[in-house]
Amino acid sequence: MSAIDNLPPLREVIATHGLSARKSLGQNFLLDLNLTAKIARAAGDLTGADVLEIGPGPGGLTRGLLAEGARRVLAIEKDARCLPALEEIAAAYPGRFEVVNADALEFDPRGTLSAPIKIAANLPYNVGTELLTRWLDPPDWPPFWDSLTLMFQREVAERIVARPGSKAYGRLSVLAGWRSTARIVMDLPPQAFTPPPKVRSAVVHVEALADPLYAAEPRALSSLVAKAFNQRRKMLRSSLKGLAPDIEDRLLAAGIQPTDRAETVEIEAFCKLSEILRRA
Ligand code: SAM
Repeated sequence: MSAIDNLPPLREVIATHGLSARKSLGQNFLLDLNLTAKIARAAGDLTGADVLEIGPGPGGLTRGLLAEGARRVLAIEKDARCLPALEEIAAAYPGRFEVVNADALEFDPRGTLSAPIKIAANLPYNVGTELLTRWLDPPDWPPFWDSLTLMFQREVAERIVARPGSKAYGRLSVLAGWRSTARIVMDLPPQAFTPPPKVRSAVVHVEALADPLYAAEPRALSSLVAKAFNQRRKMLRSSLKGLAPDIEDRLLAAGIQPTDRAETVEIEAFCKLSEILRRA
């Protein structure tokens, strides 16, 4: 029996079901249920919330989320080898856990979940940034989720929470900071995982704001920011010159020096520039 439920310890689950970790699927498992319960608590009060989990694997975080009282967990797992182990969790929590065998990049879970919805995951590194970008950058706001509690490589976590002027500040920081609050809530060494990855990891907690901090049209802002950071070492008058013949005037109108680089520009100024360019 484990520390948090009546199910077997995760090492036993992995041995029983032959779940040897596959690098191609970003499989670095968390086997300490005290740790997975702690990550679940970082997602806030789960009672009364539906939780979407991507990549449950052998189910360590899933069990943490359920033990911490999630109303319901919907998990999307690409690796069919994990399904029998996950079915055992479903049997232990009748009516509260469902697993879908699919690629998270292709499966739209929205119709299957009820508000309030929290997303929690120890994300596979190969699709983590793509999923986060989709969640942060939907066409309509507020999004379908209230909060995201996600494990990333420490370097990616730093990019999400970075402020202007730091090396880590980039497109992800602007997307996260414009319509949500993001902070690093936990640091994990490689030894927390089986097998250990090469790099450190961190859990980021993101809460959606009801409204964006500054007015901007999402698609226009997103493409402006992508262009600005695509050549982050260049001055903006040069990296953005294709956007308008008088780009220097427009930068100045937004309060940005044409010789500035993207990494020093505040989110508010990006929004202002995006609106100025859109109205032109
Ligand atoms: N949540 C488990 C844990 O914490 O031990 C496993 C985390 S492991 C880092 C990532 C999981 O995502 C693996 O179970 C892997 O099979 C799954 N996965 C990888 N790519 C996926 C995809 N495109 N869609 C859904 N699941 C995926």
